[in-house]
Amino acid sequence: MDQDAVLDLFRKSGALLEGHFRLSSGLHSNRYLQSALVLQYPEFAGALGHAVGERTRHLQATAVLSPALGGIVIGQEVGRALGIRALFAERQDGTLTLRRGFTLGPTDRVLIVEDVITTGGSTKETAAVAEAAGARVIGASSIIDRGPDPGRLGLPLQSLVRLEVPTWDPESCPMCAKGEPVTKPGSRG
Ligand SMILES: [Zn+2]
Repeated sequence: MDQDAVLDLFRKSGALLEGHFRLSSGLHSNRYLQSALVLQYPEFAGALGHAVGERTRHLQATAVLSPALGGIVIGQEVGRALGIRALFAERQDGTLTLRRGFTLGPTDRVLIVEDVITTGGSTKETAAVAEAAGARVIGASSIIDRGPDPGRLGLPLQSLVRLEVPTWDPESCPMCAKGEPVTKPGSRG
């Protein structure tokens, strides 16, 4: 699946909007990304998971590990595509950890899978969970990489799409300067 095909699924499902938006942070952007909206359709989630699987098969992972909640659906689909376990890490008292009896060990080659990677902070945190369990982290993957430099993680990173989502303070927003009306994404009507 090429970049355009991926973005087409996002647009079709309302997971990628283009316009002039006020984000929950208060910042303005010309794009709004909400990957849960594309992943709610099993056929789209399956196709994206398959594409990530094809991109990462050469890494010979033995398990997928995703951070909850955003990474769970795509992690499951990548695990299905590669025929390997899909685990997730979740927060307990603020710390990302393996719960529910999930285990990883020295024989595991772990692929970190997320829907969207922005700063890479959660990716690194999830990798640290696998390493603390004694496993080897062999790479990371996401549907979308919002960051400027795929090398920033210190891990091989495979993403289906590189997409910038620029943000501005309202005072410096170029669309506000042109007087374009701003909308809040997710609100109806
Ligand atoms: Zn604006």
